[in-house]
Amino acid sequence: MALRVAVVGGGPAGASAAETLAKAGIETYLIERKLDNVKPCGGAIPLCMVAEFDLPENIIDRKVRKMKMISPSNVEVNIGHTLKDDEYIGMCRREVLDGFMRDRAVSLGAILINGTVHKLEIPSSDKGAYTLHYADHSDGSLEGTAKTLKVDLVIGADGANSRIAKAIDAGDYRYAIAFQERIRLPEDKMAYYEDLAEMYVGDDVSTDFYAWVFPKHDHVAVGTGTMSPNKADIKKLQAGIRARAAKKLRGGKIIRVEAHPIPEHPRPRRVVGRVALVGDAAGTVTKSSGEGIYFAAKSARMCAEAIVEFSENGAKIPTESDLKVYLKRWDKKYGITYKVLDILQSVFYRSDATREAFVEMCSDIDVQKLTFDSYLYKTVVPANPLVQLKITAKTLGSLIRGNALAP
Ligand SMILES: Cc1cc2nc3c(=O)[nH]c(=O)nc-3n(C[C@H](O)[C@H](O)[C@H](O)COP(=O)(O)OP(=O)(O)OC[C@H]3O[C@@H](n4cnc5c(N)ncnc54)[C@H](O)[C@@H]3O)c2cc1C
Repeated sequence: MALRVAVVGGGPAGASAAETLAKAGIETYLIERKLDNVKPCGGAIPLCMVAEFDLPENIIDRKVRKMKMISPSNVEVNIGHTLKDDEYIGMCRREVLDGFMRDRAVSLGAILINGTVHKLEIPSSDKGAYTLHYADHSDGSLEGTAKTLKVDLVIGADGANSRIAKAIDAGDYRYAIAFQERIRLPEDKMAYYEDLAEMYVGDDVSTDFYAWVFPKHDHVAVGTGTMSPNKADIKKLQAGIRARAAKKLRGGKIIRVEAHPIPEHPRPRRVVGRVALVGDAAGTVTKSSGEGIYFAAKSARMCAEAIVEFSENGAKIPTESDLKVYLKRWDKKYGITYKVLDILQSVFYRSDATREAFVEMCSDIDVQKLTFDSYLYKTVVPANPLVQLKITAKTLGSLIRGNALAP
């Protein structure tokens, strides 16, 4: 019997999983509720994603080669000097990126369903089919027509509010709320952000994260995030980032306001039976940077690769333990990256004193190189021991000068 897989959610995770499965000739259904979805997102992607996921140039709105880190007392540190001519951070609009990745999966053979999944029926036997209940919107209506689909395996790529995670009782995770305004600037003001992104830290803009101004095609995305459960706080913090960047944003017009949860850590259970979670549904966003696009696409690709391997290209149905191999490989490859970024967040985003220390530390060229290399290429590049020692001494020096280690 040939394997049938449903991928629920057509963001970077779902599109990437569907592409890998379809390429291997597996019967793949990609279910997305909104084909013109505009995911609230800064849209910053690392250079390695462009190459690894074969993204064309026209997906990238802006190539950022300069980054300003701005401390609570408005000390500005310019980073980016270490970048080579062909290195950059890609800035894209999610509606463009997601549409491209999804269309490519479909062109390779994935069957696209424009539908909202509202229930997953779990089979009572090991080999039984999963039944997805969904509203089919192909008639153009919001309510859609009730339909079902039977499959052998389900990939939950349906983001932070995942229905699939709930259906398999994957457990909860803590999440931050991120808020963003897209602001169209007058030409001279936009020219300033041509290839420049800004990151602001301080209690006024985020108590546990950072705020950003990222350049896009014809506007800037200005946003912030916080883990505070108080919804009113996010508005105050957004007012904070707007106030800090006020001069540079003068004359700007808000064209869109958006907000969404960002998971803080993986769910307790990411594979249950023949259902696997990937991307935000699984909780693959990194701490400190809040980066999730690359890790969503990559986790989904690794999950799909395990399915192709253990199903022998769709000839048999993989088991729960086969699917769990994806998790083992994932944790082995990225476990250390998540740990390091978690520690960085808890050390440096603790208070304004530690944030001052953090920005000061970023002025060091070796720190910049290490940070950019790790971000752009997703490899923890080991610095030579002398440089490592220097970075450690600098870190401690900055923290002590900022009295950041005081309890
Ligand atoms: C304000 C903000 C700024 C961010 N900035 C950045 C950044 O600059 N860089 C970065 O790397 N990351 C950023 N992130 C994180 C990033 O957006 C996510 O990690 C990423 O979108 C995860 O991709 P995904 O495919 O797992 O989920 P999503 O992108 O959330 O995609 C899920 C898809 O599933 C669909 N769906 C959901 N439920 C159903 C259902 N029941 N039936 C059918 N379809 C369904 C949705 O319509 C959606 O298309 C930011 C997040 C926020 C909130």
